[in-house]
Amino acid sequence: MRGVSECLFCRIVAKAVPSKAVYEDGEIYAFEDINPQAPVHVLLVPKQHLAHTLEVTDASAPLLGRLVLAANRIAREREVAESGFRLVLNTNRDGGQLIFHLHAHLLAGRPMGWPPG
Ligand code: AMP
Ligand code: ZN
Repeated sequence: MRGVSECLFCRIVAKAVPSKAVYEDGEIYAFEDINPQAPVHVLLVPKQHLAHTLEVTDASAPLLGRLVLAANRIAREREVAESGFRLVLNTNRDGGQLIFHLHAHLLAGRPMGWPPG
């Protein structure tokens, strides 16, 4: 695996790469996806580098709960909580993961198809 210093999302968290901030606290950063797939497309990342959900441990599991709480907060702020939204965590090749720093996609503002592509 590539070193943390080469990880794009670690560099975004460190503000070494610019992004459009949406939400930030001590352990989570949320920012606009650079290539939005819906009217609302926000990425939420733990500041701690975890490659994907397979690296979540008992110790870091509560962080994932707080990431969901942050997503709920953003959904309410963007007024899409009631209409609905989709939270997506892609893992590895078949999951469609391109960036190996755990992130949740918050997608909203249009109906989402099922099954997913
Ligand atoms: P995934 O396929 O789940 O790994 O998703 C990676 C996401 O990161 C894609 O939706 C990209 O559009 C997004 N992305 C890539 N580079 C940047 C960047 N510099 N700033 C914001 N989003 C990015
Ligand atoms: Zn990282």
